[in-house]
Amino acid sequence: MILPGAHTRQVRAGRLAIGGGAPVSIQSMTSVPLEDVRATVGQVHRLEQEGAQLVRLAVRNEEAVSFLREVRREVRLPLSADIHFNHRIALAAIEAGIDKIRINPGNIGGTEKVKEVVRAARERGVPIRIGVNGGSLDTGRYPEPTPENMVASAMDHVRILEDCDFFDIVVSLKSSDVGTTVTANRLFARCAQYPLHVGLTEAGYGLACTVHSSVAIGALLLEGIGDTVRVSMTGDPVEEVRVAKRILEATGLRAPLVRMVACPTCGRTDPGLDLPALAADVEREITARFAERLLSQGRTLTVAVMGCEVNGPGEATHADTGVAGGRGGSMLLFARGKKQRKIRAAHAVEELAAAVEEILAEESDAGKR
Ligand code: SF4
Repeated sequence: MILPGAHTRQVRAGRLAIGGGAPVSIQSMTSVPLEDVRATVGQVHRLEQEGAQLVRLAVRNEEAVSFLREVRREVRLPLSADIHFNHRIALAAIEAGIDKIRINPGNIGGTEKVKEVVRAARERGVPIRIGVNGGSLDTGRYPEPTPENMVASAMDHVRILEDCDFFDIVVSLKSSDVGTTVTANRLFARCAQYPLHVGLTEAGYGLACTVHSSVAIGALLLEGIGDTVRVSMTGDPVEEVRVAKRILEATGLRAPLVRMVACPTCGRTDPGLDLPALAADVEREITARFAERLLSQGRTLTVAVMGCEVNGPGEATHADTGVAGGRGGSMLLFARGKKQRKIRAAHAVEELAAAVEEILAEESDAGKR
């Protein structure tokens, strides 16, 4: 597998490196008005807790920059300002301490204005993202939102910045269509080395958005294309971050701290055992209780929750710990590859947590010796 970003130029948005082999980062965007500073700060904090590494804020006018300044004071996470058409907002946002701006230089009214923005961005080390969306191409020049036209439009904007000797550029090429987005990003990756922010636009909500985004972003990441991702989802943006994390895990770019192995269940599962609910409880509890220690001990954990004693033990013995369903509310507990004992299914979460505790304590003691 080609690692994403291995061949792109690296830029920095505050403390976050994008491209040039840096780990693929997760970003999101607030869904509350910037004017509501308390709600914005609260949402940024929730996104950060969930794993977002950069959050974008829509800055709609110059007046909104004072709110941006307030948010900046409250938030350490790298922030990006989304600005359309008005170079004065970009200048004010840079002055307010933003880490990255999204603005298309071809749309801000001429070379002098671009030069002003570039000068300010260069002085503060702020990269500029050029965002081309299939639905908002300049139709005079590019009548159809084809991948080729999206790339040509992106290159128009890129050249404007390059003509100003500015190269701290990130590019996004988004469509609501999976195939168009994938092809546009592939084409761009062949003709330029600027880091790519990948995702769909207007991807909708819920399951359809999750699947479409996973296919588009996942396909690109597996080809080594993409340096930062955003799952654009209608609703609470925290969900975007959750889906993005899973995409990075599925593409092998991030190891989950707690990897769950769970069977799909079948006729062998005891009817009294709610395996999906148990697997979800185990994942939530083990992650909540042990994430910090796993990080400090530099390890991940595999936990198996299997439906029966016929095929379950195989997976459970390969995991750090696991349970396999039995009859009448019982389960078999496994740890470190060995069968331990019969337990009550109702106690499975606590029994697994105790097994994890024992494993980590033993490894920590061995590390001290
Ligand atoms: S582990 Fe057992 S219950 Fe689960 S799918 Fe396999 S055979 Fe069925």
